[in-house]
Amino acid sequence: RDEAIHLLLSGLDPEQREAVTADPGPVCVLAGAGTGKTRAVTHRIAYRVLRGDIRGQHVTAVTFTARAAGEMRDRLRGLGVAGVNARTFHSAALRQLRYFGTKRFGGQLPELVDSTLKFTAIAAARAGLQTSRAKNFDLTTEIEWAASSLIGPDDYVSAIAALGRDAPAAPEDVAKVYAAYIEAKRRAGVMDFADVLAYTADLITDVDAAADQIRNQYRFFVVDEYQDVTPLQQRLLDAWLGDRDDVTVVGDASQTIYSFTGATSKYLLDFTRKHPDAALVRLVRDYRSTPQVVGLANQIIGESKGREAKMRLELIGQRPDGPAVTAEVFADEAEEADMIARRCRQLIADGISASEIAVLYRTNAQSQAYEEALASYGVPTVVTGAARFFDRPEVRQAVIAMRSAAKTDIGELPLAEAVPTALDAVGWRADAAPSGGAQREAWEAVAALVALAEQFLEHHRADPDKDGPDPDLDAFCAELGRRAAEQHAPAVEGVTLASLHAAKGLEWDAVFLVGLADGTLPTTFARTETALEEERRLLYVGITRAREKLQLSYGLARNSGGRERRLSRFLAPLGLGGFPKTPEPAPGKPRSSSKKTAKILDCSGCGKPLTDARDRKLGHCADCPATMDEELFERLREWRISVAKIDAKPAFTVFTDVT
Ligand code: ATP
Ligand code: MG
Repeated sequence: RDEAIHLLLSGLDPEQREAVTADPGPVCVLAGAGTGKTRAVTHRIAYRVLRGDIRGQHVTAVTFTARAAGEMRDRLRGLGVAGVNARTFHSAALRQLRYFGTKRFGGQLPELVDSTLKFTAIAAARAGLQTSRAKNFDLTTEIEWAASSLIGPDDYVSAIAALGRDAPAAPEDVAKVYAAYIEAKRRAGVMDFADVLAYTADLITDVDAAADQIRNQYRFFVVDEYQDVTPLQQRLLDAWLGDRDDVTVVGDASQTIYSFTGATSKYLLDFTRKHPDAALVRLVRDYRSTPQVVGLANQIIGESKGREAKMRLELIGQRPDGPAVTAEVFADEAEEADMIARRCRQLIADGISASEIAVLYRTNAQSQAYEEALASYGVPTVVTGAARFFDRPEVRQAVIAMRSAAKTDIGELPLAEAVPTALDAVGWRADAAPSGGAQREAWEAVAALVALAEQFLEHHRADPDKDGPDPDLDAFCAELGRRAAEQHAPAVEGVTLASLHAAKGLEWDAVFLVGLADGTLPTTFARTETALEEERRLLYVGITRAREKLQLSYGLARNSGGRERRLSRFLAPLGLGGFPKTPEPAPGKPRSSSKKTAKILDCSGCGKPLTDARDRKLGHCADCPATMDEELFERLREWRISVAKIDAKPAFTVFTDVT
């Protein structure tokens, strides 16, 4: 054990070690990107468990995404620690609610809905408001923001006045819809994501027996990415803690990028005020990126204002020199996507693994061009940020095949054989990987399921708390159901395509930051100084994802023949070689060299193809009013579910498969 602890501490610098070995009690690690915050909290948990200070089962580690939770569990297992409750706020709360809260709801928990759009529409109608689909998106997002900010329908009008916040409709109307929305959910017997957190916090506050059990079970709390916590999440954390204070938080206020959901860095920045005896640790050594990348990150974030800027320390790169950051301008987005796909193919040919490459963009709408371009060169891709993996047709088919095999088989074949045998029914063969393109991608996705089954078996065998026979196909299907509900997709070998929001906390050897035109980053919808600051932080998050190679680019026009755009205002003053300092088009230069003809545009509101020239210019048809806020639409898409899913299904999806 001493040896394991020694080994654990030897991989840390003195400041990280300070955070890891601090006495039980409040600890705050405030540090920039790539300085090892996530590593420090993971090691702190392992250190305390290995020392016998606490059992893994008594630890709750909150991460920002299900994927990060999975990674943390994997890292902890690697450090010899099992049983830690590493989850998102939602998943941790849902579990407790299912366990302790059912009685409160008369024996049956309200069903969880993952799109609240339908209920907003019902509510708007009930409040006597004429709304379009686009308007309902705005209202849904606003209601979610209010709920996460602990603002109820009755306080809504005064609260937004005090905050100087723009409402998506007359504030009185929003308040009316908000109240009707709560009523609509109640009548339908459903709850949304914010309700899960609020009900759990209420349960702990109101029911002593539940509070006792939950607090007895969970004794040490860790929160990663604490700069993006909402007031509602903080309320839940406070409820979990009660009058105890064994909590470690880590975050970087310069990476607050989810303000639109109600997230705020104030809890991070005020942590030591709330806990005057907290151990405060600052980290400045950047272990992730080359000095070239770190230099650019410092330059970008050095210009930011606000409270967090005063507390920020400059990052100091620890890695050896790497290639210079490159910058490139293309005629339009199609050419940009084509060239970047070629570069990706070249990197892979040079020996870099596809899963070590990422293309990052501001909005999910930008992803399709890259999916297509990469597929045309036979490069497999993985799209993160949405529940894409479990939505893939071949994955659905494979899961169905395994479920039906589990019914006829419930343990005859060992798991390692049962999975490929079941997949035989859908024509998948381990030794028959197609050479490229979409078929290869589909094959890789199913291969990821097979790898997951192997991992599942291994973890089960390594977990000292789980004795008994090996898990069977049925148990694996249950695990898949859990992962689908938590959107915790297995790793697929491929170039990652992700929005900047979804890239938080992750890292790759090579990163392409694309579409860096003014109007995209910052988006045209960032109209206030505060909103622009958040856009700057997004760029900082993007830059700091790269370990080695970082390429920045944008297309002069969006579509072939389109209006020319300027370089992002955050990058223009830096005079990076490759980017024009004043990006004026050269005289006489054709606007675009793209061979592709303009695509048929679809209405951003109803999705119908736009035939009228004026409509095409506006991006929506005459039936859909100009209130469509593309930005909110995009954000909603990133944050919740893909719009395709909303469109494809009647109105909302009910998760029934969560355990
Ligand atoms: P972010 O702000 O992006 O979430 P972070 O502060 O959480 O970043 P980590 O992801 O923990 O940073 O670490 C960044 C990288 O640096 C990882 O690859 C990690 O393994 C490595 N790293 C962290 N600390 C050390 C160290 N002391 N020695 C060597 N490598 C380290
Ligand atoms: Mg991190």
